[in-house]
Amino acid sequence: MRLSQRVESLPPYLFVEISRKISERKAKGEDVVSFGIGDPDIPTPAHIIERLCKEAHVPANQRYPESEGLPELRKTIASWYQKRFGVSLDPDKEVAPLIGSKEGIAHIALCLLNPGDIALITDPGYPVYAIGTKLAGGIPYYLPISPRNNFLPDLDNIPAEILAKTKVLWLNYPNNPTGAVADLKFFNKAVEFAKKYDICICHDGPYSEVAFDGYVPVSFLQAEGAKDVGIEFHSLSKTYNMTGWRIGMAVGNAAAINALKTLKSNLDSGIPQAIQYAAIEALTGPQNCIKEHNDVYQRRRDLIVDTLNKMGLEAKPPKASLYIWAKVPHGFTSVEFTNDLLDKTGVVVTPGTGYGSNGEGYVRLSLTIADALLLKGLSRMVQWHDGKNIMRPKKI
Ligand code: PLP
Repeated sequence: MRLSQRVESLPPYLFVEISRKISERKAKGEDVVSFGIGDPDIPTPAHIIERLCKEAHVPANQRYPESEGLPELRKTIASWYQKRFGVSLDPDKEVAPLIGSKEGIAHIALCLLNPGDIALITDPGYPVYAIGTKLAGGIPYYLPISPRNNFLPDLDNIPAEILAKTKVLWLNYPNNPTGAVADLKFFNKAVEFAKKYDICICHDGPYSEVAFDGYVPVSFLQAEGAKDVGIEFHSLSKTYNMTGWRIGMAVGNAAAINALKTLKSNLDSGIPQAIQYAAIEALTGPQNCIKEHNDVYQRRRDLIVDTLNKMGLEAKPPKASLYIWAKVPHGFTSVEFTNDLLDKTGVVVTPGTGYGSNGEGYVRLSLTIADALLLKGLSRMVQWHDGKNIMRPKKI
C-alpha cells in the first residue's frame, strides 16, 4: 500500500506505544503498575450515567446528531462558562461542541494554518498541538518551558523572522505534563502579544477543575480582549471522569469557532445525542463530585511527591492538573530511567521526552491510579531505590 508522506512521517502516538509495552508485559504474565496515561480511575458520577442510559432509549437520540451539537448543549456550555469564569459567550456563534477536545485541537490547525505557517508550541507540551500543526502543513516552533520561567513561555524573545510567519500560539494551563499554572497577568500579556503580531491563541484548559489546596485556576478567556484573538478548548473528560464518552468544547472567537464548525460539518456527524444530554446533566447537576475527586487526587499527589523526594527524584506538589513532573536521578536520561524502572519493578511512568526534547531529565506520573495500585507501585519504587531485591513481577 502506498501511504501518504503525511501519515508515514507521523510518530506512533505516545500512549499507544506505552499501552503496547504494558500489554506485551501483561501477556507474559507480568504484574504491571501504571502511572502512565491521565485517564481517571474513578467512575463517571451515577447521575450522569443514569441520564445517558435514559436518553439512549429515546428514538430521536438514535439518529444522526447535528454536527454543531444540540442548541441546549451549546447554551449549557455558555451558562457554565458564565457561572464558573464570569465569561459570556454567544451559544450560537462562540461555542463548538467537540467529540472530545483532542479532536478539535487537531482539527483547528486546518482552520488556521496554511502550509509553511508557524505555530508556537511550548516544549514540553501535549503532543497533539505539534501533530495537528504538521498534518496541516504548518511548522512548529518550540518555546522551552522550565522551572526557571515557572513553565511559562518567554514571549519577548522570539526572533522577528519567526514572528513574521507565526499564525498560532498554543498554551495549556493548568499544564500537561508539568502541572504548572498561569495567572491572569500572564494571559493578559499573551493577549497583548497576539494583538501585536496578529496571532491566534489556542488555549487548552481541560484541567481547570482539577485543583488542590483551595487553588482556583482561571480561564484564558477571562483576560481582557481574549475573545478578539483566541479560543479555549475544554473538556468533560477530566472534570467529570468522562474520558470514554468523548465530549468537549471549543469556545471564544466567533470567526475561529465558525471555521471549526464548518470544517467539522464536512468531516464528522457530531456527538451521539445521548452523550450530549449526559454532558448537560454533568454541567448542570450536582457539582460535589468535583471536590470529592480532587480530595482523592490531592491525597495521592502528596503520597507520590513525598515518596519521590525521599527517593531523590525532585518533585514539587502541583497546584492543579493530574500530573507530577519529577526530575530523574543524576546519571539517567528520561528514557533510561523509565525503561530501568519498568524492567526492575514493573512500574510504568511516562518519559519527559515524550512531550518534547525539553522534557529530558523528567518523568511524568499520573494521579489517576487506584489507591491500592498506587501504594503497590510506590512500595516497589522505594524497595528498588533501597537496593532491595524487587520480587520478579508476579504472575497475575
Ligand atoms: N488537552 C490536554 C492537555 C490533555 O492532557 C488531554 C488529554 O489527556 C486532552 C487535551 C484531550 O482530552 P479529551 O480529548 O479527552 O477531551
